[in-house]
Amino acid sequence: MKVHEFQAKQVLARFGVPVPKSGVTDSVDEAVEIAKGLDGSVSVVKAQIHAGGRGKGGGVKLARSLDEVRQHAQAILGMTLVTHQTGPEGKLVNRILIEEGQNIDQELYFGIVVDRATSSPIVMASREGGMEIEEVAAENPDAILKEQVDLAVGLTAFQARRLAFGLGLEGKTVNRAVKLMLACYRAFEETDAAMLEINPLMVSKEGDVLALDAKMDFDDNALFRHRDIAEMRDLTEEDEKEIEASKFDLNYITLSGTVGCMVNGAGLAMATMDIIKHAGAEPANFLDVGGGATQERVEAAFKLILSDENVKAVLINIFGGIVRCDMIARGVIEAAKNLHLQVPVVVRLEGTNADEGLNLLEESGLGLIPAKGLAAAAKKVAEVVKGA
Ligand code: ADP
Ligand code: MG
Repeated sequence: MKVHEFQAKQVLARFGVPVPKSGVTDSVDEAVEIAKGLDGSVSVVKAQIHAGGRGKGGGVKLARSLDEVRQHAQAILGMTLVTHQTGPEGKLVNRILIEEGQNIDQELYFGIVVDRATSSPIVMASREGGMEIEEVAAENPDAILKEQVDLAVGLTAFQARRLAFGLGLEGKTVNRAVKLMLACYRAFEETDAAMLEINPLMVSKEGDVLALDAKMDFDDNALFRHRDIAEMRDLTEEDEKEIEASKFDLNYITLSGTVGCMVNGAGLAMATMDIIKHAGAEPANFLDVGGGATQERVEAAFKLILSDENVKAVLINIFGGIVRCDMIARGVIEAAKNLHLQVPVVVRLEGTNADEGLNLLEESGLGLIPAKGLAAAAKKVAEVVKGA
């Protein structure tokens, strides 16, 4: 689960990470009030959306007076902000952060991710902050310093110091950076975060070290342990279909193809997507209805697939192990009746009560296309899509 910059900064501040003074709001008047309460002559108005690159897109503006705060707040609130991370449709800005302007000397990069290869957190730092780290990684990978963390020990002061020296820091800033890094690691570990990124990590002209931007992504499976963080979820930032899916405990991810997929089991869902591609078509979604699917859940899943305008055909691929194929068939039939089905549906049922399920589908008169075997089903749905 992703959160906004202001929320990530709240979490980090709780662990002692220095962040600029700020306030968040959805109103222009209140933005001016917040700015009045900040120290210094400059404040920064920052769009709060779940995407980076806001600066380049016009979502981060420096204000040198309260009038300018008002102007920028007016312009940014309600704007559709397009950045390289939002896609061309952009994202509506509902909230802004009003932050104390900082006297920046250096913009560095700091991040923590979970490395699948070593099954451990990797702490990264770079002098090339403020810009896209993906670009640095592609063009100048040596500019990214890395420390692999032993989970039993955590990030050590020694490792943090090595990063700080690697960043070229000197004097008092070294210890300040070390403290910040250790606090960030504690925050990452204790909140079950999956990703933490501070870009830029700022060194001020006065030698202070601050998190000027912050991004955190939390492990959904651990959110039950962090009520306060779970409450930070902003549904307006998420894909509507994925929200609907999460209500029914469906594992659903929207993709860009035209073949809607309904499958039980994540592994089978992956294999189904592969074989659809192999047959020359593209999946419109990943959907795992789960091993313990109920008729209600199957109905919800089928509705979800059909609500996607890109879907030109559907492939239902069910292996009846725990789940019974006749129950799946009933769910599909109920949903199809309610939605008066417009697209062709290819069905492959195998396993427990498969024949009964296929019979039900045939008798339903909905014109569902049965298929024997996964390859044949994929071939058929690809043909149907090309014909459509
Ligand atoms: P994004 O990464 O989405 O573009 P950032 O929060 O990193 O947004 O802001 C972009 C740039 O704006 C930063 O690299 C920094 O130069 C400047 N900036 C952000 N916050 C402040 C601040 N409080 N004071 C001064 N400059 C800031
Ligand atoms: Mg940034």
